[in-house]
Amino acid sequence: MTANDYILETSGLTKEFAGFVAVDNVNLRVRRGTIHALIGPNGAGKTTCFNLLTKFLIPSRGHIAFNGKDITGTRPADIANLGLVRSFQISAVFPHLTGLENVRVALQRRHGSSFDFWRSKSVLDVFNDRARQLLDDVGLSDFAETTALEMPYGRKRALEIATTLALDPEMLLLDEPMAGMGHEDIDKIAALIKRVSANRTILMVEHNLNVVSDLSDAITVLTRGRVLAEGNYQELTNDQRVKEAYLGA
Ligand code: ADP
Repeated sequence: MTANDYILETSGLTKEFAGFVAVDNVNLRVRRGTIHALIGPNGAGKTTCFNLLTKFLIPSRGHIAFNGKDITGTRPADIANLGLVRSFQISAVFPHLTGLENVRVALQRRHGSSFDFWRSKSVLDVFNDRARQLLDDVGLSDFAETTALEMPYGRKRALEIATTLALDPEMLLLDEPMAGMGHEDIDKIAALIKRVSANRTILMVEHNLNVVSDLSDAITVLTRGRVLAEGNYQELTNDQRVKEAYLGA
């Protein structure tokens, strides 16, 4: 295996809050092209890890490499430009804009240009076409003219994923993509994540273990800020340490 097999690697990643160690010497390696889940009980340090990866927080110690490049000191917007994008955070959905407008705004942000540029009809047509295609990709063709506010919850999450895809990420960080969803929406978003992963790497924090088992190629279990175990779902469910610390067995 070469270093290039790993799109994201952390070494000794540590975050302390006033002496409390929330993330403790974490070495996380995510293989290119996989769906990797980060799981663990509440307070394990998953969100803090995500915040460190996208530079919403500055690590106390340790390094983060993306595509072999040290991004530890990189600004959040530059990290997104490198192709590492976090969903539901960077790409906010605007409630009063339609599905199409929301995706177009995300495209505009990606391709950042002056107002005059955007008044050109041909440019607008190109971006509208691309926005429609992205809506199609996430199963939202029928919601192009619906405001985000009027969309059912599951559809709004799909729209959030579309706005993230507008940034053309090589790797997506998904923060509890199934939170607050019913069975039907979970199935739809799971299918969408699978589709999206065909040409991307995904790292997700997810509490729903059925989803984790169904989607993940690899899983890292965190407890008290540390990596407790790594492996695939079957390996981890047979791991006594994981059963005790997380699955409550
Ligand atoms: P998880 O996402 O796994 O539930 P978090 O990363 O949110 O865990 O939190 C890990 C620990 O760090 C928790 O004990 C939490 O209270 C603490 N923590 C998180 N953010 C802060 C902060 N800004 N200041 C102090 N403690 C924090």
